Amino acid sequence: MNSAMTSDYTITDHQFDVVVVGAGGAGLRATFGMAAEHMSVACITKVFPTRSHTVAAQGGINAALGNMVEDDWRDHFYDTVKGSDWLGDQDAIQYMCQHAIPAVIELENAGMPFSRTDDGKIYQRPFGGQYQADHKTPAQRTCAAADRTGHAMLHTLYQQSLKHKAQFFVEYFAVDLMTDDSGRVIGVVAYDMVEGRLHRFFARAVVLATGGYGRAYQSCTAAHICTGDGLALAARVGVPLQDMEMVQFHPTGIYPAGCLITEGARGEGGYLTNASGERFMERYAPSAKDLASRDVVSRAMTVEILEGRGCGPAKDHIMLHLEHLGADTLHERLPGISETARIFAGVDVTREPIPVLPTVHYNMGGIPTNYHGEVINQDANGNDVVVPGLFAIGEAACVSVHGANRLGANSLLDIIVFGRAAALRLKDTLPTLPPPKVTAAAGCGGIERFDRMRQAKGRYAPVDIRERMQRTMQQRCAVFRKEETLQAGVQEIREAAAMLPDIGLTDHGMVFNTDLVEALELENLLTVALATMDCAAERKESRGAHARDDYPERDDVNWMKHSLAWVPDVVGGQVRLGYRGVTAHTLTDEVAPIPPMKRVY
Ligand SMILES: Cc1cc2nc3c(=O)[nH]c(=O)nc-3n(C[C@H](O)[C@H](O)[C@H](O)COP(=O)(O)OP(=O)(O)OC[C@H]3O[C@@H](n4cnc5c(N)ncnc54)[C@H](O)[C@@H]3O)c2cc1C
Repeated sequence: MNSAMTSDYTITDHQFDVVVVGAGGAGLRATFGMAAEHMSVACITKVFPTRSHTVAAQGGINAALGNMVEDDWRDHFYDTVKGSDWLGDQDAIQYMCQHAIPAVIELENAGMPFSRTDDGKIYQRPFGGQYQADHKTPAQRTCAAADRTGHAMLHTLYQQSLKHKAQFFVEYFAVDLMTDDSGRVIGVVAYDMVEGRLHRFFARAVVLATGGYGRAYQSCTAAHICTGDGLALAARVGVPLQDMEMVQFHPTGIYPAGCLITEGARGEGGYLTNASGERFMERYAPSAKDLASRDVVSRAMTVEILEGRGCGPAKDHIMLHLEHLGADTLHERLPGISETARIFAGVDVTREPIPVLPTVHYNMGGIPTNYHGEVINQDANGNDVVVPGLFAIGEAACVSVHGANRLGANSLLDIIVFGRAAALRLKDTLPTLPPPKVTAAAGCGGIERFDRMRQAKGRYAPVDIRERMQRTMQQRCAVFRKEETLQAGVQEIREAAAMLPDIGLTDHGMVFNTDLVEALELENLLTVALATMDCAAERKESRGAHARDDYPERDDVNWMKHSLAWVPDVVGGQVRLGYRGVTAHTLTDEVAPIPPMKRVY
């Protein structure tokens, strides 16, 4: 470590083999995996590790353990490909479903306190869109620690990281990636919020594990810290963002607060009703009913509301019933959501239904990677090329295992499997990655951007621009989409981005400047919002979470491909779109690829 002066700042330099940005499930799994292999690794995180959004995950993690009913990872593979509406890459999906079983057992051995069956095995519950070999009978594949699975997982992973002596830099905000003259990624510039200092972390490899960007929307289940920072960092060094139009709405956000009621509630037997008390899901998904895939249930609820069958005086929500499950089951299996419903809806779930509404929940899109977690870009001929030394994992990445729609409980799995995969890959490839060139100029661009934002004295508070962006996303790019509203969105999101140069901060200091952090997050959110809106306007079909009124059918001839969006200039609203083919082959012949077919539940 040494210090140097750049412009007006004293900068502290560090050198590591690998820098991981993010300490959620993905970042921690990668961090301790690398530390265990004796790599020197720094984990930078803007919040204390166990406050990462992974802590909020309720329902569980999928693995075909077969503890309750017979199961096979090939059926998990089938359900995930179908759930993705054939936009998922089948090599990566095989990798995830096959590795799910050892990954969950590894968590169990690491001390994760799963709920148990009477004979002491990991308890597994049914979740949406997952079936046994007949593709009809619900599977019981979702391993759960009551309804606090993410909490149990994140604490287990953090303890493992401490055991392996990984080095943490807590409340450090990653501002930008550093590149050398050739454009190669050589590390990260970060702002230590507590001490009010800037740091440069030089490394042979950088792993982005910064989570999703639910906060681009007005109403979401994600934490306030989910602002797409890693995606914007990648975009600023010329990496495209993939499938950004694929935004998952969870059917059961509490009305109107937005906090999540896990799908596990329906997995345990909960059901939805409209204003006349009808179990309307029977009309939309006759066999899966309330446990159809999330996009299907969210759309059905939205249609009920739009056609005047919503509940309450404004007919603007739906009811979720759990009261028939009985107080004992609710207490044992769903204690967390019982508390959430009481606090945020004033509802006693043992006696009355919970008012719910589809709410933004997950970003299928992100930084494109292969199944090793290596980031991929395109060369001039449109061929995939690995970006040397840059990795992305977890919700920030698009592997793509979720395609156009993620199955519940496949994300906690994704973060574990691909966090581990990145560590394994770096174990092999680290010696081939050259050490970074440490120069005075490294990171200057990021430091200048940081300084410009800190000094900003324009007319608009960050909140003014943020609200405009969030309103636009919520109104123009929601559960149902059509040309007219999307085009209005394309325009309005550019108007919000164009306000950035006129932003004004009230705090110009260095120590714990939350005003500054929010402004930097806003710039990142606008980057991903632009990509999301443009990709949504461009994709002229309905697939998974992307449902267009004007193009109601899936169009495999023209649109079975990943969208790519490069965002070279946020303020100027410049976005360049491109495409990548979907990988339709599997990794090995242990499982056959699933050819596209109509997706019905
Ligand atoms: C309420 C809720 C319930 C869910 N339930 C389930 C479930 O039951 N099952 C399931 O499979 N999935 C569930 N999901 C989805 C799943 O939890 C997430 O997709 C997953 O946990 C994301 O993990 P991650 O490691 O990628 O990111 P996160 O856990 O979001 O962590 C991101 C990390 O990046 C750091 N970071 C971000 N930006 C910066 C920056 N600029 N500088 C430094 N650090 C930064 C943060 O500090 C944090 O440590 C749920 C999601 C929500 C919101």
